[in-house]
Amino acid sequence: MTGQKVYIETVGCQMNVLDSELVVGALRKHGYALTDSPVDADVLLFNTCSVREHAEEKTFSALGRVRLRKHANPDAVIGVLGCMAQKDQELIRKRAPYVDMIVGTGQLAAVPELVAKVRATREPQLAVSLGRSDAGRNEVEASFVSYDPTRDPTMRPTPFQAFVRIQIGCDKFCTYCVVPSTRGPEQSRPPEHIWHEVRQLVDQGCKEVTLIGQTVNSYVHEAGDRRTRLSDLIAGMHDVTGLERIKFVTNYPKDMTDDLLNAVRELPKVVKYLHVPVQSGCDEVLKRMKRNYTAGYYMDMLARCRELVPGVSVSSDFIVGFCGETEESFQKSMELVRAAKFKNSFIFKYSERGGTKAAERYPDDVPEDVKKRRNNDLLAVQNENSRADHRAQVGTTVEVLVEGPSRMSAKATHITQLTGRSMADHIVVFDGPERLIGHTVRVAIKDASPFTLYGDVLTDDVVGADVSREPSASAPVPARPNKFSLPLV
Ligand code: SF4
Repeated sequence: MTGQKVYIETVGCQMNVLDSELVVGALRKHGYALTDSPVDADVLLFNTCSVREHAEEKTFSALGRVRLRKHANPDAVIGVLGCMAQKDQELIRKRAPYVDMIVGTGQLAAVPELVAKVRATREPQLAVSLGRSDAGRNEVEASFVSYDPTRDPTMRPTPFQAFVRIQIGCDKFCTYCVVPSTRGPEQSRPPEHIWHEVRQLVDQGCKEVTLIGQTVNSYVHEAGDRRTRLSDLIAGMHDVTGLERIKFVTNYPKDMTDDLLNAVRELPKVVKYLHVPVQSGCDEVLKRMKRNYTAGYYMDMLARCRELVPGVSVSSDFIVGFCGETEESFQKSMELVRAAKFKNSFIFKYSERGGTKAAERYPDDVPEDVKKRRNNDLLAVQNENSRADHRAQVGTTVEVLVEGPSRMSAKATHITQLTGRSMADHIVVFDGPERLIGHTVRVAIKDASPFTLYGDVLTDDVVGADVSREPSASAPVPARPNKFSLPLV
């Protein structure tokens, strides 16, 4: 089918961003073009997240808005994809009965076929996993067929950065989390597939890959008597010519092994940054969350990270106001965040998710205003740490992969304020010409805020690139028509 347009909105984690990229790539092969306007679209897709109530409500309001589109163009196909589709089929049908397709996380490869079925029959289509225990691993494994490294580069964060999924699902079963039921059991992809995909991405101009998994450092693939760990996987792609940076998120504290930390230290292309969510500083709360470690264990792990990878920056996640969190419990999180000195932390107020063990077992008993106050208190301490972490960078020179113009960039001049990230994941802003976008440059850091470093580019010292003064040497960043918000997990 030609001349048809697809619009997609994505909420949630990097997994969802990548899923949307794969879905659009598959639809393009069927003749669809991507549009950033729902008004122009023939197919409107919403890739959803169930981790927080806010994300679910955002999807329902988006669905409310596109209802009008259905009136204007009754042939338009509206689809809900991802975690909410897996978890809340009945609710979606009740609140948005005009939705034509509900497609779970394991069935996304079937989207083009389901769109065609809706068009042919005008019957609603439902494709979701039967459930973690009924479907088993084979059904989830089948979703690997959707991995196509030649997928649509315009859906990527930038043309030179790509996510690569190395693992799907989760077997940890934290009591507050829907992921083990929406994404299924934990499985690691074969290393050969991942290395092949990375080589193809680099051939397309990609310089940085972010390996993603719910607990990425639990990655292990066994075939015969060969066992491939995350450290082996990274080593196996490290020397791909043209690849400049390797990142991996998100880590589980109990699986932070020394072989991985040694690889982060030894391999120059591996970004010296670890995101390792702790969630709480109180052992009783961690136990109710079923995180399987204590605050003491986490702090020992953190010390090991810093000992084995000198200069590594570490960030974390916290949930405040989890069931039964007393003021005393919360103060333990405050103590932990003071002591841990994270580069940054993502702090969330607990919201009960249907279908989780926490919802079954524990009352959501911390009042909303208390959750809000705790969120702000923890954030204030974290911001002090972030400020100190960023101030410590002033006077250093860092390598920055330039991602694009900063949000504050002045448009009318050929000198633009550019932004990118350092090898320790600090956001760096500096003035420079747009032709630097997509290249790695060295920046002398002059100033810092809690969230950003500011500096001057050392133009004589561009790393491995032709950045001649001709404007034609620039690497403009195409408009990013897909919408997404990060991060939620
Ligand atoms: S919070 Fe992370 S580790 Fe825990 S169940 Fe969810 S995805 Fe798995």
